[in-house]
Amino acid sequence: MLKNFIVTSVPVSPKTSRIGILTWPYLIELISKSLKIEPVFSVNAFHSFLENDEKTIKDYFKFLIDNGVDINKKRIYIDKEHLAEIKKLIKEMFNRKLIKIEEKVVYRCLCGKIDVLNLKDNFQNENVKLYHIKNGKAYCNFCNEECTACTQKVLTLQVDFSKCQKVQIVPQLYESYFNDLYKKFDNQSFMISKNRETGIKVNLEGQNFNIDIDFSWMLFTSLLPNKNKIIIAGNRHIFKMLKIHYVNSVLEQKPIIFLATSYNMKDNHFDETKAFFEIDDINYKKLFLLYHQSWNNHTNSRLWNKSIYNYLKKLSSSERKKLYDAIKNTNTKNAENMQEKLSSLVKNINLAKNNKQIKKIEE
Ligand SMILES: [Zn+2]
Repeated sequence: MLKNFIVTSVPVSPKTSRIGILTWPYLIELISKSLKIEPVFSVNAFHSFLENDEKTIKDYFKFLIDNGVDINKKRIYIDKEHLAEIKKLIKEMFNRKLIKIEEKVVYRCLCGKIDVLNLKDNFQNENVKLYHIKNGKAYCNFCNEECTACTQKVLTLQVDFSKCQKVQIVPQLYESYFNDLYKKFDNQSFMISKNRETGIKVNLEGQNFNIDIDFSWMLFTSLLPNKNKIIIAGNRHIFKMLKIHYVNSVLEQKPIIFLATSYNMKDNHFDETKAFFEIDDINYKKLFLLYHQSWNNHTNSRLWNKSIYNYLKKLSSSERKKLYDAIKNTNTKNAENMQEKLSSLVKNINLAKNNKQIKKIEE
């Protein structure tokens, strides 16, 4: 085991409704075993307004274990369990003047979903717009009410590009996008408090602030052991990665390498969930999801792919095991650093997919 590295994902909502949710745990496990790095499974329980968090989280881990994820109980990070540390860290950042109280014009709608400093950046992620403009006014896409401006004291985090650690991300094609985004937000402020109740309340200079749940995400790398980190996140969330990266930088934590995964869209002619559960073979399940990640052509959305199912179905369980092991045993000895190692590992996921690889292993 490499003592100075961990691999994890951004904290995930503990859902069990879609099979795609297993992609990150499968990748964490693969990277951990292949690159000899300690795995951490991170859960976001702040977002779940469920009645029974404990049961939801328990069900989630059972779902992972039932589908072949090797979990050691000690390697779990649940954000809600770190509430006291999160509040302490926010106060520390305030004392160090990394966070400020500022009087700002804030745009807000009735449901509270819109609560922003400017109306320029109309996005939650690449596919979800927050509001639309009608007759020069902005209307929330969730409650349909007009966003109105008001002036009030909010908590802000100033962005200073010069303080940033080097951006490291796999696939590397995202690096320039990431850096461009940084330049766009340089010298601007992120608002990190919300008007609505968020479950994280901090008192600063006699005033209560509701901390944005997204900001607690940004702090999470500082609450993990201070080691070099590989962090898995979706390629639609580069902006969230940037915020995590920025806070990691200003808190002088050891650097992060991000791994950006792609999403799959529904193919109406193929029931991916049925296909996933049809074959009772853990290596089949892992390969089915891992093969849906394409690390060379990453920018297009992809459909769940029946040919991957057909291909894996034809193989025997020992052939599938050989394919999985071939990925796990990727030779990364010549790679100069961890980013290169990670890059060759994930590229090998798709290389191992062709038949020749199986024959080669058998020879
Ligand atoms: Zn609204």
